[in-house]
Amino acid sequence: MINDRPTQLRVNLDALLNNYNKLNSLNNEKIGLAVVKADSYGLGSKVIAEHLYQNGVRHFATATLEEALELKDVIKDSMVLVLGVINSQNVKYAVENNVSLTCPSKEWLEESLVHLQQIEGKLKIHVKLDTGMGRIGTSDLEELKEIDNLLDSEKIDFEGIFSHYSNADGEDDNYDNYQTENFERSLKIFTHKPKYIHIENSAGTVKYSNRDDQYNLTRIGIAMYGCYPSGNIEKLDKVQLEPVASLVSKVTHVKKFQAGQKLGYGVSYEAKQDEYIATVPIGYADGLLRRAQGFKIRVGSEECEIVGRVCMDQLMVRCSKNVKVGDDVLFFGEYSGQKVSVDEFAEYQNTISYEIFCCINKRVPRVYYKNKMEL
Ligand SMILES: *Cc1c(COP(=O)(O)O)cnc(C)c1O
Repeated sequence: MINDRPTQLRVNLDALLNNYNKLNSLNNEKIGLAVVKADSYGLGSKVIAEHLYQNGVRHFATATLEEALELKDVIKDSMVLVLGVINSQNVKYAVENNVSLTCPSKEWLEESLVHLQQIEGKLKIHVKLDTGMGRIGTSDLEELKEIDNLLDSEKIDFEGIFSHYSNADGEDDNYDNYQTENFERSLKIFTHKPKYIHIENSAGTVKYSNRDDQYNLTRIGIAMYGCYPSGNIEKLDKVQLEPVASLVSKVTHVKKFQAGQKLGYGVSYEAKQDEYIATVPIGYADGLLRRAQGFKIRVGSEECEIVGRVCMDQLMVRCSKNVKVGDDVLFFGEYSGQKVSVDEFAEYQNTISYEIFCCINKRVPRVYYKNKMEL
C-alpha cells in the first residue's frame, strides 16, 4: 500500500534488544520478562515480541487475553502472562493456547475451577498479591490460605506468585520496603511453591539489581522501550538506555508571515514581526495532543516552537527562512542527526513517556529498523 504521509513512529529494534539485554543482565539470577502489553506501549507488539523471541526471550506479559492470543504464533513455546483480570468463563482459551493467567482473588479461582472441570488440561496461574498498589490481587491472609488450598486442584498449574511496586520510581525506598515486607509475609502462607516469584517492574529491576532476595523474575517494560521510569532511576546510573522510538515527519508547506498576521483555530497566535511559518502533517488525531502547543520541535537543524493550536491532522511552527518543504521534523527520539528525549517532550505536556507512546494513534505507521546506519 502507498505510504504518502511522511509522519512515522520509527522503532529501533536493535536498541530495544540492547536495552532488554542490559536490564536482563543487571541481575543474572533473575529472568527478564518482556512486558509487551498495550501493543508494546504503542510501538507494535507483533514485531517487537517476534524480534525478542528470535533473540532468545521466552517470557512475556500482556494486559489482556486478546493481546496474549495475538502473539501466540510469534512467541510459540514462550510463557505469556496476562497481567489483568480475565473473565473466568474464558479460561478455556488460556488453557488451549498455553497462556498463563493472573489470579486476582479466591472468588475468581473458584469460578475458574468450575469452568476448568469441563475441559481438558491445566490452567497456569500466577497468584497476585496486593501489597500496597490497591489495584488487583488480595492482601487478606485468610483469603490467601483459601487460595493456597484451592491450588491442590489437579486443574491448576501453580506457575507464579507476584506483586507490583507502586512507587519504585520514587525518591526513596520507604514504600517499596513496606510492600516487600507485605509480600514476604504473604508468601509464607503458601504451602505450594511456584516456579516464579516476582515483584519488580523496570524501576525495581534497576534499583534492586543487587538485592539478595528469593525472587527469580523481573518484569521489564518502559526501560526496554528506552525510557527511564523516572529521573530517580536514571540518577542511579546503573544502566545506559538507548532511545528506541522516534516520532518524525517532514515539512509540507512554508509561508512568509508579516507582523500582525494571525493563524490557527481560535486565532491564538499573532506574528510579532516578519517571520516564517512551516506546516507539519501531524495532529491530535495522530496522538500529538493540543497540550503540545508551545513545545519546540526540531525542524532541520532548528528548534521551532509549535504556534497556534494543534489541529486534528496538522500543526504549524515558527521557523527561519532557511526551512524548506521536505525538511525533516523530529518530535522526540533521534533523526537526521538530531536528538530530543521523550521525557522532555512528555514533561512539557505534564505527563510521562508511557502515555506519550500509548497515545500515538494507529494512523501513524510504525517503521522498524535494525541499525543506526539506516536512519
Ligand atoms: C505495566 C506493568 C509492568 C511494567 O512496568 P514498567 O514500569 O513499564 O516497567 C510490570 N508489571 C505490571 C503488573 C504491569 O502492569
